[in-house]
Amino acid sequence: MYIVCPKCGIPSAKVSLEVVKNFTKVEIPEESDYSVCVNPNCDLAYFSKDKSFRIDKLNELLFFKDKSDNAPICYCSNLTRGEIKNAVKNGSKTIDDVQEHTGKNITGKCKTENPLGQCCRNSFLYEIEQALGQQPTGFSFKPCNCCG
Ligand SMILES: [Zn+2]
Repeated sequence: MYIVCPKCGIPSAKVSLEVVKNFTKVEIPEESDYSVCVNPNCDLAYFSKDKSFRIDKLNELLFFKDKSDNAPICYCSNLTRGEIKNAVKNGSKTIDDVQEHTGKNITGKCKTENPLGQCCRNSFLYEIEQALGQQPTGFSFKPCNCCG
C-alpha cells in the first residue's frame, strides 16, 4: 500500500518527523506520520493525515522541486546547485573535487538535514553529471549505500 500526495495524486515517500520539524520549524505532535511529495511540479512538500506544508512555508528550498541555482544539494554543508556548477566549470569532476574546491565538505547529517532524510550522494552525482554535460545516471530517490 502506498500513500499518494493529496494535491497531485502521485505516490509519495515516508519521511521522518525530524526532517519535517527541521524544514518547517513548527512543533509537530510526536505521533504524527509524515510523507513527502517528490513530484517536481507539485507545490506540496510534507503532509500527514490532517496537516500539510507547501514549499513556500518551508525554511529551505527543496532540490527536487526547485530548479534554481540557489537550491542546496548537499544540505549538511549548504552547498548549492550553483556552487556545484561553478566548481565543475573550474575543473571539478567528482564529489571530492567539488568539496575541495568549495571548502564545503561537512557530511553525515543527512537523516535530519536532507529534505528526504537521505544521503545527498545520488543527487550530488546527478548535478555534477548535468554540469559536465553528461547524461545523468546518478539521481534516484533510493537510499545510497554510503550512509544508510
Ligand atoms: Zn504532490
